[in-house]
Amino acid sequence: MANSITNGVRQSRLFTKTRKEAPTDEVSRSAELLIRGGFINKEMAGVYDYLPLGMRVIAKIEDIIREEMNMIGGQEISMSSLQRQELWQKHFNQDRWDDSKVDIWFKTKLKDGSEKGLAFTHEEPISNMMEQFVSSYRDLPFSVYQFQTKFRNETRAKSGIMRTREFVMKDLYSFSKNEKEHLVFYEKAKQAYVNIFKRVGIGHVTYLTFASGGVFSKFSHEFQTVTPSGEDTIYINKNDNIAINKEVFTDDVKKDLNLKGDFKEEKSVEVGNIFTLGTKFSEPHLVFEDENGAKSPVFMGSYGIGPARLMGTIVEVLSDDKGIIWPESVAPFAVHLLLLGDDKSVAKEAEEVYESLLKNNIEVLFDDRSGVTAGEKFADSDLLGIPLRAVVSLRSIKEGGIEIKKRGEAKGKIVSLDELLKIIKPKVK
Ligand code: ATP
Ligand code: MG
Repeated sequence: MANSITNGVRQSRLFTKTRKEAPTDEVSRSAELLIRGGFINKEMAGVYDYLPLGMRVIAKIEDIIREEMNMIGGQEISMSSLQRQELWQKHFNQDRWDDSKVDIWFKTKLKDGSEKGLAFTHEEPISNMMEQFVSSYRDLPFSVYQFQTKFRNETRAKSGIMRTREFVMKDLYSFSKNEKEHLVFYEKAKQAYVNIFKRVGIGHVTYLTFASGGVFSKFSHEFQTVTPSGEDTIYINKNDNIAINKEVFTDDVKKDLNLKGDFKEEKSVEVGNIFTLGTKFSEPHLVFEDENGAKSPVFMGSYGIGPARLMGTIVEVLSDDKGIIWPESVAPFAVHLLLLGDDKSVAKEAEEVYESLLKNNIEVLFDDRSGVTAGEKFADSDLLGIPLRAVVSLRSIKEGGIEIKKRGEAKGKIVSLDELLKIIKPKVK
């Protein structure tokens, strides 16, 4: 996906504009910065649009997740958002269609009067679909994932893109013959999740967290990122770097998990969740025949991540008073090239730098706008948070080239074009 993104964008042509003032209706810092930078647009509480800069970040996050899901054998699909009532009622022991059991449903009606649900998750539809593909032990194990739009009528939607009523979820479902086979996959998925959060730049503040399980396992595992704006509370065990969600934090659980030493209470955001479902969604209809012809229900797991919640969380963790500080792996561009002043020869030089960067397969946002002061360009650059700023001005040319500065650092330095090209990593093909 990210490979088909254009490398070069001229800021003079970018239809979005940055804003100086914070929106008055956002309490979350990430929403404020993302709106001011023109990454997203708010439609209503809990509903956002993604603009060109935001799309680039989301595409990169999704690509990292996709790579990790492919690596553990996940096969990508895309299921519909409109769902049949009967599928949900097929699981009689649960009947998650019932509004008194699931209070986040959005439902709608067809012209014939029949009611349909707007997907808030896919366990029921996917286990139903798999009935036609699974019959023998030879068909198992396998796993399937999608990036797909979910609708949830959330009560509170105050955390910007971290909790929305319409969002894309990466949900993966695993299908195994038994618990033992399931656990082998579950461990692989857990490691893939660890890799994902490390790769998007929040590994240092993200904890594997024990949370409430279900019928088939005592615990599920959440990935919780520590940030003061988080809606969850976790207790981090300093010895083992593992956390327990407040929901299940009792002396018994601590003993169960054999976690000794001190715990530190922190606010956090749940960026991912992996869950052993067991046969909850397969019994009685999704079954397979073993070597002896005996029938057993398929053993399932589910594994979710919200790419947009992840994007918001990255901004919560990685920003300062001036704006966002994107990690290289998910930054909308590798370089923010700034042309300062109206001098023709300086403009020519900056154009040449731009062309060279593009020739070298480097993603660059080129601030070629005229009539914008140097101060405004610097402020915009800090707000947008591209990892490297490269300034071409009369002064930089006089000093021998291009003035570069990392977004997170205070001091810059002058480099030649050749040196610049050596410093920046080209986009991976
Ligand atoms: P929470 O407890 O925060 O409401 P959840 O436990 O209901 O989330 P899951 O059903 O496990 O969430 O969803 C899997 C992942 O989808 C979550 O880990 C999160 O990254 C993302 N997600 C869930 N709800 C939302 C939402 N309303 N907006 C954006 N992302 C979400
Ligand atoms: Mg959860």
